[in-house]
Amino acid sequence: MNERDSEAVAAMLRGRGYSIVDGEQDADVILLNTCSVRDQAEQKAIGKAGYLTSRKRKHQPKLLVGIMGCMAQNRGADLLDQLPDLDLIVGTQKFHHVPDHLDNLIRTLEGQGPKPSTLIDLEAEESSQNTIREHNKEGSISSFVSIMQGCNMRCNFCIVPKTRGKERSRPIEHIVEEVEELVAAGTKEITLLGQIVTSYGRDILKFKDKKSPFVQLLEQVQEVKGLERIRFTSPHPRGFKDDLIEAYRDLSKLCEYVHLPLQSGSDRMLKAMNRPYRVESFLNIVNGLRKAAPRMTFSTDIIVGYPGETDQDFQETVEVFKEVGFDMGFIFKYSPRSGTVSAELQDDVPKEVKEKRNQVLLDILQEQSMKTNQSLVGRIEEVLVEGPARKGEGMFMGRNRGFRKVIFAGTPRLIGQLVPVRITEASVTTVKGELELTGMEDN
Ligand code: SAH
Repeated sequence: MNERDSEAVAAMLRGRGYSIVDGEQDADVILLNTCSVRDQAEQKAIGKAGYLTSRKRKHQPKLLVGIMGCMAQNRGADLLDQLPDLDLIVGTQKFHHVPDHLDNLIRTLEGQGPKPSTLIDLEAEESSQNTIREHNKEGSISSFVSIMQGCNMRCNFCIVPKTRGKERSRPIEHIVEEVEELVAAGTKEITLLGQIVTSYGRDILKFKDKKSPFVQLLEQVQEVKGLERIRFTSPHPRGFKDDLIEAYRDLSKLCEYVHLPLQSGSDRMLKAMNRPYRVESFLNIVNGLRKAAPRMTFSTDIIVGYPGETDQDFQETVEVFKEVGFDMGFIFKYSPRSGTVSAELQDDVPKEVKEKRNQVLLDILQEQSMKTNQSLVGRIEEVLVEGPARKGEGMFMGRNRGFRKVIFAGTPRLIGQLVPVRITEASVTTVKGELELTGMEDN
């Protein structure tokens, strides 16, 4: 989501006549878009901003440095205690005002008037969900589209509802129009973005023929001619009712890969986290999805070391992790966040234990990823070619429908096309293969 918000700001700035330079050394303005999910992310951003503002103080007085996004929203003017030379602090509903703010700051700088004070813009803004719309002109094969802002869930560990506000959805027609424009510019794959995409549209639309607004949106996006693939992130397990499971059977463009945040495999922990599902219902969703689309693969988010997590709780997570066979995922060490319910609890799992549990899951993830990749060897996979591979002359990179990276020898002409690739080799993170000239077989 941050990547998408940053892309939109960059595109708005280009529209204003700014240009984006390759390296920060050449920039007159540097904006950091930030994440607050864990303390470590904030500390990194503060460290980077500290480095940039000291460069400004010492060598480049006209450099403008700004902080945008969740940490700006979370800390606001308090950031100035550590970073007194910041020029701009812009919250999560104000990205579209960045061009105006910069224009104003630059005018003040050029007028050689008094040193401009820090511009701080953090209020909630009605309809801000409709402002993340601009894209880079070049057109990419795979594009993100923001369908909503905010989050109404109340996970006890999570700061996102505080930094992103209440759920607010864009109208279906606006989203479809944006997808159509992207496809006209060369996009073949869309990832729909929101904090909880499965809650899309509850604020503006009704269920229709027992279908949720999110499934209605998927059906409309499926109709966009020239679009080949649809993905989305992040859904909530609670959102996987029959309508969404059946969408995997019925919508040909919807790819068989789901990011399904589990957080913990212990019911006791799920309850403590205020996650509104239990292990059994999670597994039922997984099985339902596998029935609807037998080749379905899953990724997830797990938090290790939530307050009170015992070895037994963690062992249960390990078991569910293996049972589902997640082959991609993000493992987070619990980090207390101010303003959340669990910040009031004692962060009682020692650092070393968090570290160890983290490593156990990462090792299983590697094994399971290798297993999935090996199972592809010998198959012919449909690959959407994204561009040259990072290494190897004449080598190209694309993904199969299951989001696996596939490397093969090709030509630039294939970029943006769906091609059949016979998989010959597997490693933990990628598979290699050869273009299959006879076409796709039904395997
Ligand atoms: N709204 C999205 C993304 C939330 S943030 C969703 O619900 O999927 C992404 C992930 O960060 C969460 O799924 C969770 O696993 C992790 N996370 C959130 N708060 C955290 C905290 N306080 N400490 C550690 N990990 C956290």
